[in-house]
Amino acid sequence: MNKLIGLYIHIPFCRRKCVYCDFYSLAGKDDIIDEYVKAVAKNIRLAGGTFDTVYFGGGTPSLLSGRQISDILSAADIAEGAEISAEINPDSADPDKLRDFKAAGINRISIGIQSLDDSELAFLGRLHNSAQAKNAILSSRKAGFDNISADLMLGLPYQRTETVVENIARLSELGVRHISAYMLKIEGGTPLSENQELISHIADEEFSADMYLEAVNCLERNGYKQYEISNFAKEGYECRHNMKYWRCEDYLGIGPSAHSCMDGKRFAVPKDIWGFINSEKQEEVITDDAPCGISERLMLALRLSEGFLLSRAGEYADRLRAAAVPMEKHGLLKINGNRIILTPTGFLVSNEIICRLSEVLEER
Ligand code: SF4
Repeated sequence: MNKLIGLYIHIPFCRRKCVYCDFYSLAGKDDIIDEYVKAVAKNIRLAGGTFDTVYFGGGTPSLLSGRQISDILSAADIAEGAEISAEINPDSADPDKLRDFKAAGINRISIGIQSLDDSELAFLGRLHNSAQAKNAILSSRKAGFDNISADLMLGLPYQRTETVVENIARLSELGVRHISAYMLKIEGGTPLSENQELISHIADEEFSADMYLEAVNCLERNGYKQYEISNFAKEGYECRHNMKYWRCEDYLGIGPSAHSCMDGKRFAVPKDIWGFINSEKQEEVITDDAPCGISERLMLALRLSEGFLLSRAGEYADRLRAAAVPMEKHGLLKINGNRIILTPTGFLVSNEIICRLSEVLEER
């Protein structure tokens, strides 16, 4: 049987750039979407492989039509029972579009909700309001989607913890099965990074930490189990595609800025849409030719609630366990039999914990 791999397809088009966003996407280029779709399908055919997860990310995949989604999926050998996700934005996902996506084979929808508070959505420069966000969820359900995810942002200017808690409860009532809750990051070169007025109203570290912990508690109360630092799901609705990233499994990325980890190499496609459309085959620049060593596996596994399996650490297992004991005493992690698992408080300082534990791997 062929090895089953994940397929990420980058859709680098947006209606307008949001003020905080540094993803590779272009606004106002809808006229080249058809050409782009052809180039994506061609590259999928050239790469070959059998996929048990497919993820349309962006950018804004909901700017594609159902037919374009179908053209791309037809180019791929997709295993039976595959998870096929598409990110959508509430302002470009009307009921007809959602029905077309379902008919094309999408079975998981990830909605860029970000907030259900209109003033927060306005700071972020989003094109939708909270009513459209709720309608996108309801329309997804009407179109037949059960596996619905929503993105939420934490640590926004002027944000109150109460708003976050209300948003989570509302998403649960609306039937959302999975929530990705990310802290806002100020990325250099974005309009937000130059808006000192807004930045001055972003929560400080202590308040952000409290907000994150309160959000984790509220998500748990509403039945969303934390399975990764920023990801929470009702039973059985964890994102299978994203799990591949954290478990160091193979995935192929198609499109400018897409990353891959395949056959013991990591590579990335340059952020150049015209180069991608016009070349025979997408350019792939090696970023790491020996990925998924112990330290990388440790770093990725500690993001997950399943944690890091000490038996994978070979000769380092005893020393890792010894280094973890004092952190367990401080409530930052648990040593559960053969696993090291970070607590929610530990997730907040995961970089420091990973650094400490990685030092053990460097000792001779
Ligand atoms: S819609 Fe998403 S990808 Fe597009 S600009 Fe906004 S945050 Fe970035």
